[in-house]
Amino acid sequence: MVRSASQDPLERLHDAEPFPTTNDSTGRTLGEAEIEAVADVIRSGRLNRTVGDQASSLEREFAAVMGSRFAHASSSGTAGIHTAVAAVAPQPGDEVIVPPISDYGTVAGVVAQGAIPVFADVDPLTGCLTPETVLSVLSERTRAVVVVHLMGAGAPVDAIVAAVRPRGVAVIEDCAQAYLTVPSGAAGYAGTRGDIGCFSLQQSKHITAGDGGLTITDDAALAGRIRLFADKGWPRETGERTHVSYGLNYRMTELQAAIARVQLGRLTGIVRDRRRTAEAAIEGLTGLAGITLPQNPESHAFWQFPIVLDRDVIRTGCREFAERLVALGVPASGGYLTTPLHLTPAIRDRRPFGTLFPYTVPPASRDVSYGLGDCPNGEHLVAESLVCIPWNERYDSSHISRVIGAVRRVHADTVQA
Ligand SMILES: *Cc1c(COP(=O)(O)O)cnc(C)c1O
Repeated sequence: MVRSASQDPLERLHDAEPFPTTNDSTGRTLGEAEIEAVADVIRSGRLNRTVGDQASSLEREFAAVMGSRFAHASSSGTAGIHTAVAAVAPQPGDEVIVPPISDYGTVAGVVAQGAIPVFADVDPLTGCLTPETVLSVLSERTRAVVVVHLMGAGAPVDAIVAAVRPRGVAVIEDCAQAYLTVPSGAAGYAGTRGDIGCFSLQQSKHITAGDGGLTITDDAALAGRIRLFADKGWPRETGERTHVSYGLNYRMTELQAAIARVQLGRLTGIVRDRRRTAEAAIEGLTGLAGITLPQNPESHAFWQFPIVLDRDVIRTGCREFAERLVALGVPASGGYLTTPLHLTPAIRDRRPFGTLFPYTVPPASRDVSYGLGDCPNGEHLVAESLVCIPWNERYDSSHISRVIGAVRRVHADTVQA
């Protein structure tokens, strides 16, 4: 078919096919095997993990892939992080250090356990916590740090562990965006470096069951508390109907687990394909003034493809830069969040239970409050510098050419003369 397309390849960006998206089958790697696995569970009539073996099998298989002793499957990534915080067992009013750029699921469990989120600033290019920023907000009431491997980049988690472990502070890794990431200098995957690693199976993540969470640890006591918290504190192995500790119902269903097991078998290929196209994009974009590209792509998981603008060199902020990419047919968003987490109303207003609890609970060692200026680097990323290009394993060389062409065009139009 002859199309009256412009001869200029950049003009043709406008009427090209939409990019594959993780919002539907175009950008997901889901096939007959997942359909069969779900159908088998339905035929068995065993849809709950207490009567089936899908969730327990998934746990065994995920622990093996990660090289960790224990894994626990939960209903969502947020639930998994909540179980991790509960297992670490902060007292009401204890502090948990978190970054200002992440999904709200990073902090929801901290708040739910009556602990106080304390925000440490992030590296201005990766958006990840650093040992220096964590130490700068550490107090005698700090009980844990949640380290987020943002966009799939490896945070310096080994250095954070080395900095806080002597102070008795637990490290929870939020790897919801970071399957098979190897943090720089680390001898293993993100999620295995701290005390507990948390993953998500939500629709947009590398592998999905719609929703779901996976939590790993090498510590038997933590693993036991995670399991109990996600199952109403019910010690099933005893055969007793009793409740030995406070817990909720965060169990993964057998339907989710059956899908997740098939997805897990696809994980290595999915991450490899995302890396391959991301490396091609980096090669095609290297050398543009005022643009920082992802570092260490060989160990990055590329949940999204982040670009950081130097606002002394690029005239427009990240939101307008993203809008210009979208106008050229390339999906993009500016800043990732509307506001950093410490300024989102649910945190900023300090009324998680309708009152000031736990902010005022004795013996609070300081009055933690939230405001603009707490995390300048995080605030700058969200407001000015971070451009996110959604990524998935279904991108091919034509999509990468379009990404390169569009970013180069927007760069040329916005770089300072
Ligand atoms: C997705 C995500 C979560 C929450 O996971 P859900 O499965 O959506 O509850 C937490 N942290 C990060 C960094 C995420 O990307």
